[in-house]
Amino acid sequence: MATLLILGPAWCTRVLRVLALLVVLVVPPSASAYDTPERLARVAHVYSLGVGEVRCASSAEWDADFASALGWAYTNMRDEYAVLAPGVCAGVLNVGTANVPLWQQALGALVLTHEAFHLRRWRFRRNEGKVECQAIVHFKDAAQRLGATAAQAEDLYPYALALHAHQVRLFPAYKDPKCVIPPWVPPVG
Ligand SMILES: [Zn+2]
Repeated sequence: MATLLILGPAWCTRVLRVLALLVVLVVPPSASAYDTPERLARVAHVYSLGVGEVRCASSAEWDADFASALGWAYTNMRDEYAVLAPGVCAGVLNVGTANVPLWQQALGALVLTHEAFHLRRWRFRRNEGKVECQAIVHFKDAAQRLGATAAQAEDLYPYALALHAHQVRLFPAYKDPKCVIPPWVPPVG
């Protein structure tokens, strides 16, 4: 420090610039930038029985991910982690708020629950129909665990049913003919 003072302010600046550059060069980039919100893992673990990691991809990560073309999320069952698209994460992290549209909140809760049943080590974890069935059956429970009131979970449910129907229409494998889907009951009045 004394040396720097003797060299004067111009040298100081130059030396500091070099030091700053060295710091940039020496600090390694983080191996994985995926956000892993604790709240999502906690809710997913209710259905996965404690198995797996839930990752929220940034837009850049999602765009660079080969699986992004396949849908809203995916689960790597071998390494036991799920990756959610940015819009899905925005939805699931805002369940019970007015920050994002209701359909997006429902999408987030439904997709998180769906992936949680892929993470769970049960006999049907690779069966899209069985996994999706569990997701829709547990939807309102999941929405409340994510921060919705019981009334808000009821309001989200029609969107979940519509999203489920949309998914089944696009991908028939998501339909389990034996699934008993709880009906939506319109609020009285
Ligand atoms: Zn699936």
